[in-house]
Amino acid sequence: MSMEGKKHSEETRRRMSESGKGRNHSEETKRKISVANKEYARKNGGTWEGKHHSEQTKRKISEGNKGKTMSEEAKRKISIVRKGVIPWNKGIPRTAEEKKKMSNSSKGRISWNRGISCSLKVSLAVSEANRKRIWTEESRRKLSLTNKGRHLSSASLEKLSQSLKGHSCSEATKQKIARALTGRKHLYPLTEKQRQHLSEALKGRIVSLETCKKLSIGRLKDKNPNWRGGVSSESYGVEWDRHLKEKIMMRDNYVCRNPGCKGNSRRLAVHHVNYIKKDNREGNLITLCTSCNSRANRKRELWKTFYEIQLEEICRRQNLIMRKM
Ligand SMILES: [Zn+2]
Repeated sequence: MSMEGKKHSEETRRRMSESGKGRNHSEETKRKISVANKEYARKNGGTWEGKHHSEQTKRKISEGNKGKTMSEEAKRKISIVRKGVIPWNKGIPRTAEEKKKMSNSSKGRISWNRGISCSLKVSLAVSEANRKRIWTEESRRKLSLTNKGRHLSSASLEKLSQSLKGHSCSEATKQKIARALTGRKHLYPLTEKQRQHLSEALKGRIVSLETCKKLSIGRLKDKNPNWRGGVSSESYGVEWDRHLKEKIMMRDNYVCRNPGCKGNSRRLAVHHVNYIKKDNREGNLITLCTSCNSRANRKRELWKTFYEIQLEEICRRQNLIMRKM
């Protein structure tokens, strides 16, 4: 009797499935099944080659396999059998259609390693593997292209920041980074746009007290390009206090008095036009935003003349107002 072309009824299949559950074939039976399958294959043209399951069958198989997990034993066995076997698709590039299918089917799927942090051993292995990796010019260029214009979402940035918290580089790494960055500004001058980005990104950034101290030590006295030989530590006159500053700011309507002010800072400061800190006459003081105030630290002669003219104008207007009153 041949089963060819015959189909089991629903009822029979259910029963077969029920009775087969939890059962293991004996070695003898397995051998018999194997022989029978080989015989069947021989009769029907030998192999599965060129044959395909119908869409319906594929769907059924897929449904049946859903949620199934292989036992460790089964995995081990399959692994032994497959060792040294070259996968049928090795070296065959995927067609665009296949790629699209894969992409579609994996959409929305949660990756198996999501939320699992690498064990230290794995991290070290990955790091070691990447260290030995030699980037070809081609892959560098590709990477650069894919990263171009790429922006991390604020959520990703937050995650990145969290993951880097408490992370510190070894001295050797720091030195490497420093070496890589040395002279870099000459190699890659920042564009105006990049400068603005950087400035925006740094706005509102809080630097730890420790960093502040370090930075300030690095910029002390003669290490600072604005060092004027100790003039700035010269103490202010006794009149220099909160009230005087408030008075000047009120006179100047609480706005930066630099007509070319770029509006970079909203904080105000009172500036000594002739740079003499003890000269606290109202005719030597002018309200500037902190940005314009620091700009005035360079090219002092120029700014001195510039703000003298501004002050004259302020005083002239003030006198007019006084006269009208
Ligand atoms: Zn200003």
